[in-house]
Amino acid sequence: MNDRFGRPLEDLRITLTHACNFQCFFCHMEGEDGMENGLKKEDIILVAKVAKKIGIKSVKLTGGEPTLRRDLTEIIRGLKLLGYEDISMTTNGFLLKNLAFKLKEAGLDRINISLHAISRETFKKITGVDAFDKVIEGIKTAINAGLRPIKLNFVVNKRNISETFKFLDLAEKLGVDEVHLIELHPVGLGKKAFTEHDDLNAIEEQISRVAVKKEIRKKHFRPRYVLPSGLIVEVIKPYANPIFCAGCNRIRLSVDGKLKTCLYREDNVIDISDVFKSDFNEEVKEKLIEKAFMVAIAIREPNFKYKL
Ligand code: SAM
Repeated sequence: MNDRFGRPLEDLRITLTHACNFQCFFCHMEGEDGMENGLKKEDIILVAKVAKKIGIKSVKLTGGEPTLRRDLTEIIRGLKLLGYEDISMTTNGFLLKNLAFKLKEAGLDRINISLHAISRETFKKITGVDAFDKVIEGIKTAINAGLRPIKLNFVVNKRNISETFKFLDLAEKLGVDEVHLIELHPVGLGKKAFTEHDDLNAIEEQISRVAVKKEIRKKHFRPRYVLPSGLIVEVIKPYANPIFCAGCNRIRLSVDGKLKTCLYREDNVIDISDVFKSDFNEEVKEKLIEKAFMVAIAIREPNFKYKL
């Protein structure tokens, strides 16, 4: 399904909970308000079922911290049964040491782990938690469990920018497949934290000089650099970037049951929570959710548009 800007809808990002065991000072909370525990597993699976029917190819689980959902493996199992071939999750990695193998067994294909520091001190300054060593253990276990490609997310800001290149060294040593250097977005707590924003241009320039190859990914037209070690570095710069928006193929299911068409927009949403609360049978619910997707696709638009 293409929206009226010709952008295909291929990826469903699901916020499983707003609960989190970290307090990252810039957290965008996926552009959602409130402190909700999340939709019921059955409602999540139903939306994913309809999404698959209309052509969505991949599902990403997020939060809050998705590993805090006790029914996480059941949700993943349900998604896999729908036939999705690309189910991924973004996590802070704190609970991965115990969970990684169970998640893989349930059907999780790959994982993004947030690691915004290379030292215990910076890690605590960013997340509010002294858990650097535990997250490193989590990353190692995820590698052993085969949740590949394993990607590390590093949100660049003034507290960690000096560690960026050492972070790439650490990623190489750990043996992960890819890192995402992410520009801080002015969304959620990120609005206040935006004083610590950096545009990543200087960092990208340095990376491009040492890279052996540059590619442009279809999703968000993100630039990807292959380092001599084979590590892939993807640079994610969405802010005020119409090219990024032009390549957006994503729709979101919020924690309180809304189809959200853009991280940045609070108005462009379709509320389907009443469908879940209703007594309609599954077939009727599916039809209503499908209609909601059609409306969401119709109103979907790039947040940043090119202007002369
Ligand atoms: N708790 C999980 C985690 O830490 O990965 C999942 C939720 S978190 C909101 C999802 C991703 O968004 C993480 O990689 C996180 O670092 C990133 N993120 C959060 N706030 C951000 C911001 N203001 N700008 C850019 N990325 C942000």
